Amino acid sequence: MRLEPARETLRRVWGHADFRGLQSTIVGEMLAGRDVLAVLPTGGGKSVCYQIPAILRPGMGLVVSPLIALMSDQVEALKQLGVAAARLDSGLDPEERANVWREAEAGRLDLLYISPEGLAQNHTLQRLQKLKLALIAIDEAHCVSQWGHDFRPDYRTLGRLGEAFPGVPRIALTATADARTRDDIRSSLHLDDAGVFVDSFARPNLSLTAERKETAGRTAADKRVKELIAARRGKSGIVYCGSRDGTERLAEALAATGVPALAYHAGLDARDRDRRLARFLAEDGAVMVATIAFGMGVDKPDVRFVIHADPPGSIEAYWQEIGRGGRDGEPAEGITLYGASDIAWALRRIDGRDMPPEVKAVQVRKARQLYAMLDGSSCRARAVRTYFGEEGVAPCGTCDICRAPPMLADVTEAAQKALAAVQRLGGRLGRGRVIDHLTGKTKDVRADEAALSTYGIGKDIAPRGWRDVIDHLLIEGLMIEDPNDGKPLLTLGDAEAIRAVYRGARKIHIRHQPDAYDPSTRSGDPRRRKGGGADREARAAAFDALPMDVRNRFERLRAWRRGLAAEQNVPPYVIFHDKTLVDIAVEEPGSLAALGRIAGVGQAKLDRYGRDVLAAVADVS
Ligand code: ADP
Ligand code: ZN
Repeated sequence: MRLEPARETLRRVWGHADFRGLQSTIVGEMLAGRDVLAVLPTGGGKSVCYQIPAILRPGMGLVVSPLIALMSDQVEALKQLGVAAARLDSGLDPEERANVWREAEAGRLDLLYISPEGLAQNHTLQRLQKLKLALIAIDEAHCVSQWGHDFRPDYRTLGRLGEAFPGVPRIALTATADARTRDDIRSSLHLDDAGVFVDSFARPNLSLTAERKETAGRTAADKRVKELIAARRGKSGIVYCGSRDGTERLAEALAATGVPALAYHAGLDARDRDRRLARFLAEDGAVMVATIAFGMGVDKPDVRFVIHADPPGSIEAYWQEIGRGGRDGEPAEGITLYGASDIAWALRRIDGRDMPPEVKAVQVRKARQLYAMLDGSSCRARAVRTYFGEEGVAPCGTCDICRAPPMLADVTEAAQKALAAVQRLGGRLGRGRVIDHLTGKTKDVRADEAALSTYGIGKDIAPRGWRDVIDHLLIEGLMIEDPNDGKPLLTLGDAEAIRAVYRGARKIHIRHQPDAYDPSTRSGDPRRRKGGGADREARAAAFDALPMDVRNRFERLRAWRRGLAAEQNVPPYVIFHDKTLVDIAVEEPGSLAALGRIAGVGQAKLDRYGRDVLAAVADVS
């Protein structure tokens, strides 16, 4: 009963029929003035959890948010909904600032967004302390924890908010936090009595795929990314690369094939970044090729694919990055390319960081867990959700593993041979030479090498079968690639695990590539991929399957929206999401009342745009 006003606000302002998942519980807690820690997956609808209580409770809601881009987007979207929102960030000129303060101090704001740095300034804090606050929301709260994957020292100062604003309920929100990170958020932010609400991490509209890179080189990965994008023409997506150079090179290569692709990384100056972000948000079918500097808070709802040209750093990062696809609830894809050399690189990078050893150890473990998932043979969505602590998760039915369960080959014996060879060779050789050794094909072999018991014991397996086995051992941490200044050498990994393999207590299974184990096939022949492509494209074609008149209406609505967005200088989805436009095109409403019943059409938008939308639907322009 108490929630009725909240539900009414959700309907009237947002045009959503009802709360979903944990939203109603969290809103109820906030309305009752209690602290909350909320872990909801990306796209799970975190923002209304504090926006509605901020509107309904007396006073202004203060929202701490890490990025200016995120803030301005949220504030724009709120204004479109008719909510009194503003932001205080370093991008404002003095006059705009004064204006925001005037509104806040007159009690005319429902929501004020601020960065953690802004809040760290004493004079800002003191000025805010004089205001009546409805609540404080801390977005991307995992940034406070060094056990999380994106620790930001700035966030540490947020620990004092409880003391600075006694009696003001606080809510910390994040999309990714394992149990340890959650505990750390609670203690760092002094949310000791907060109710903790962890939603399911399921993202049923995302279909996940992971592909092993065919070869370690950049060009092969770039080529594969180009293929993947060519098959998704006209769709908007994000491609993550491990390096700035990588983003530039790939964006250029894509642009050369006519894809509206842009590079984005922290090395660009701020104006350039803003411009590229704006283009990505505004242009249909734009592709952003970015480092991880891009994304947090980028709230574009119709991203249809996220491709990792280089793998992410952890399962948290994976889920967060992939989670930027399909926020509108429509189908989207997450495709990750990975290889054994990537994990070697990841481990090296962690080792080079300036961090206490225990934090490094956490990150190494997180990296290994990620590769185990990518290279594993069980449902990807289930692996991720289990990692986040969900129990009894059913297979998703849509990931590559669920769609085409891999045949597993028991290669324990081959693994024993490979491990023994590396042991005998004492870490002196790289992967190619170890394979030559195993297959007895070392050119001008030295007598001492030929005399080893492991020389030629692997003749029954083709070289690329051996490559698979060794890659897998690297990913499982049974072998390690010592960088050796760009000429990597194979050495042994976890000694206890290796003993278990020798004893046969630990079995090694890899995905079966039938001809890879036939020594009669030519070595070095690139592996052929089977399946995958066709049904992926079929799913992506769902929209194309709509009747022609619906598609025409949708295109008219989209054209109308594009013009309006340009006029108002906001991203198109701030006006209406694609999903809402599709619904309108399908429903073909003939009156304002009918239009108002469509999800995503709230009162403010109905008043402002209703007539234009009906005109576009009826094509009377
Ligand atoms: P998050 O911040 O958790 O990633 P958002 O708050 O941006 O998610 O919400 C994601 C999308 O879901 C937005 O488009 C939002 O309008 C929509 N949404 C949120 N709550 C609801 C709801 N109760 N019913 C329908 N759509 C909703
Ligand atoms: Zn699955």
